[in-house]
Amino acid sequence: MRKPFIAGNWKMHTTISDAINLANGIKRELVDFNKADILLCPPFTALSSVSEVIMDTNIKLGAQNIAWEKEGAYTGEISSIMLKDCGCKFAIIGHSERRKYFGESDETVNRRIKAALLGGLTPIVCVGETLEERESDLTIKVITGQLEGGVGNLSEEEAKKIIIAYEPVWAIGTGKTAAPHQAQEIHEFIRGWISDKISSECARLLRILYGGSVKPANIRELMKEEDIDGGLVGGASLKVESFVEIVKNSI
Ligand code: PEP
Repeated sequence: MRKPFIAGNWKMHTTISDAINLANGIKRELVDFNKADILLCPPFTALSSVSEVIMDTNIKLGAQNIAWEKEGAYTGEISSIMLKDCGCKFAIIGHSERRKYFGESDETVNRRIKAALLGGLTPIVCVGETLEERESDLTIKVITGQLEGGVGNLSEEEAKKIIIAYEPVWAIGTGKTAAPHQAQEIHEFIRGWISDKISSECARLLRILYGGSVKPANIRELMKEEDIDGGLVGGASLKVESFVEIVKNSI
């Protein structure tokens, strides 16, 4: 049985004080909640402050990206060492917004995953197709390419440490959620791919999150699907009430 996992991706929102308030609100409501793993991914500038708020609780901290090198002349990048120093245990890698706006490729996704693993952080690897790709019947081809390029060369030991998030691009921030059966179809495909390429044991353990307009009202139905193990939540993670309700409705 895979434990539900709900991650909040705050994207480029919140000042440090907004982030502290949001984290405090979530902590107040969920401090004794152990039935799901809970992750907050604030912007880099708020990591240390949020880390202090959630210290000694079951709520974990993650970054929204990670550099592929440990240190050096890489202006603007943040390494695994720095993230761990801020209290991070997870890093989101390959989010579609990074692929679309910042030139993230499957190759750089792979390098970032390797760096996260080497640095002792859990990568949350995002994959997903655009609306155009879905309408051209390319969904499976696109997801396969992202998996091959992103995680295809991981050892079984490495692959057992990752989380995958299926995030159809057309459902992110649009209010359009994939129907549970649509998401399940892709989650099942991803688990099958991991089983074929890595191992059935790895596939059995792998947590696959769904992301794309997750809300308190739709998480229950999504979680009923066999291969959906949690959610990567954007917009609805920015309000205490909606994020807390999503977490509570996920079990
Ligand atoms: C996301 O940030 O990964 C996301 C899925 O956003 P939203 O929940 O707002 O669609």
